[in-house]
This record gives sequence, C-alpha cells and structure tokens, in this order.
Amino acid sequence: MAHHTGRVDTSRMEAARIEAARMEAARTEAARIEAARIEAARIEAARPDGAHLDGARPESRVPQLTVPAASLHVPAPQDVGDLGAGCGPEWLDRSVRSDLPELVRLRRRVHAHPELGHQESATTALIMRTLEEAGIKARLIPSGTGVIAEMGSGSKLVGLRADIDALPIAERTGLPFSSTLPDVSHACGHDVHLTVLLGAAMALARAGDLGGRVRLIFQPAEEVFPGGSHDVIAAGGLDGLSRLFALHCDPRLEAGLVGLKAGAITSTSDVVELRVSGPGGHTSRPHLTADLVYALGTVITGLPALLTRRLDPRAAR
Ligand SMILES: [Zn+2]
Repeated sequence: MAHHTGRVDTSRMEAARIEAARMEAARTEAARIEAARIEAARIEAARPDGAHLDGARPESRVPQLTVPAASLHVPAPQDVGDLGAGCGPEWLDRSVRSDLPELVRLRRRVHAHPELGHQESATTALIMRTLEEAGIKARLIPSGTGVIAEMGSGSKLVGLRADIDALPIAERTGLPFSSTLPDVSHACGHDVHLTVLLGAAMALARAGDLGGRVRLIFQPAEEVFPGGSHDVIAAGGLDGLSRLFALHCDPRLEAGLVGLKAGAITSTSDVVELRVSGPGGHTSRPHLTADLVYALGTVITGLPALLTRRLDPRAAR
C-alpha cells in the first residue's frame, strides 16, 4: 500500500512540475509577443512615410577618381568586327564603322576606371565631353552624377537610357584594360551600356532630321539603394517621353544577338527591416526560451515562400 501511495505522489509531483513549466512557457511566449508588438509599433511610429527612399546615401567607399590622360592610349582593338554591318541603313553602317575603334577605346577606358554608384564623377565628365564633341547639348543631373541630353527638334520625344556605375567587386580577368582599383569593377557591364548609348548619340547626330527629339539618359547609381532612377525622375528625365528604351548586357545571348521585351525586364529592390525581440534564456532549457535565432531563421527561409502566395508569377509581362 505504501509503495502504491508513493507512486501516486511521484506522479502528482511530476504533473505539477510539467504544468508549472507549461505555465512559465506560456507566460514567456505571451511576453515575447507583446514585446515584439510594442517594438514593431515603435519602429513604425519613428519612421515617416517614404523615409527609406529619402534616407542618406551610402558613404563613399573609394576616393574620387580622375581619369589620367595616359589611359586614353589604349590601342585600338583588332578583334572586334562590326556586328551590325549590313543590318541598317547604309549611312548608319558607315557611321558605326567609323566610330567603332573610338567607342571600344572609350569603353575600355571606362572599364579600367570604374566608379561606384553616386560617385561617377570622372565617368560623368567623360560622357559630357564626348557628347559636347558630337555637338549634343548635355546637362548634369543635379544630384551630382549622371547626364541628361537632348537632340533633334519637334514634339515627339523618345528616350534612350543607360546606367553608368560599377560594383564593389574585385576584377580578376587579367585583361589589359581590367579595373585599376582593387575592389571595384564594371562587373555588370554598365561600361558597355554607356558606350552603346554614346555610340547611338554619335550616330543620331549624323542622321540629319530625326523627325522628333531623342533624350539620352545616363543614369547614375543603378546598383545601390536608393537608386539613381529617383534622381533622373526628379530632374524631369521622364517628362514628356512617349517611349523609353533601356538596355542591359545579357550573357545568355550570343554576341550579335539582341533580345527585346516590352515592360519590366528585371526586378526592383527594396529594404526590409525586421526586428525580432524576446527574453533571453539558457541553452540547457530550450523549451523555456524564446529562441530568437531560430525564429529569425524561420522568417528568413519562409519569406520567399510568402511571395509566391502574394504575387502572380505572370505579372512580370
Ligand atoms: Zn547592371
């Protein structure tokens, strides 16, 4: 009988201990949820609408660059043919053929002197100078880098847009015109984009009557957030446009092929600030702890799945 009573007592003690632990865990969880709610409300209240778009720009990561005159003397390439020959009007073929060596030199010069977003001073100066030499009026975007130019006359207005900034990535190609900076390079091909737009400008300058106007937009800071598109728009870069054409290198296409798409072709980027808070705990009692590392890990891996429940995959037309 005593043996039996002892067993009953032990069982009751165990049940009481489990119940106490459960209550404690529930209190901890409720406190965690309440703390997270208060913190989220505090963050929301502290941030005015759109503050993330107007926030301070990233600090300069490289010193301001000047392009030394010596870098102009990159030998004209022998291995680049005129891939567009015979595909356009005769005057255009002639124009591109005559400009090609200079354009390749220009692209290699920009490639050797990459500049990060919002710091493209030397690149901007080079674009301004090249446009001026072609007789095209250009103006600096008021934020300090990037250029908007216009040519032709008439009411119709079409825009051509290229980006001009580089990435904080080291170049290890070993090319004779590779980046002269240790940790910055034109890894996204924006040196090509701006050169193509300059080439188009030079050809259009020789085209005679364009039957309208063409606006050339050299957008700064495509690679950073907030991007330089805000500066272009603030400077009136999109005002009055009936069409806007942008370009980007795509290594999936063979050289000489051009892919076309109406509408968005890449995603945009944004910043998501997430703060998870809760009381501390001890690793020896994980069941009594609000494990924030685990919680955050779950959010990080689960968030992409949320997108597929919110966005129509066919929306990017
Ligand atoms: Zn790019």
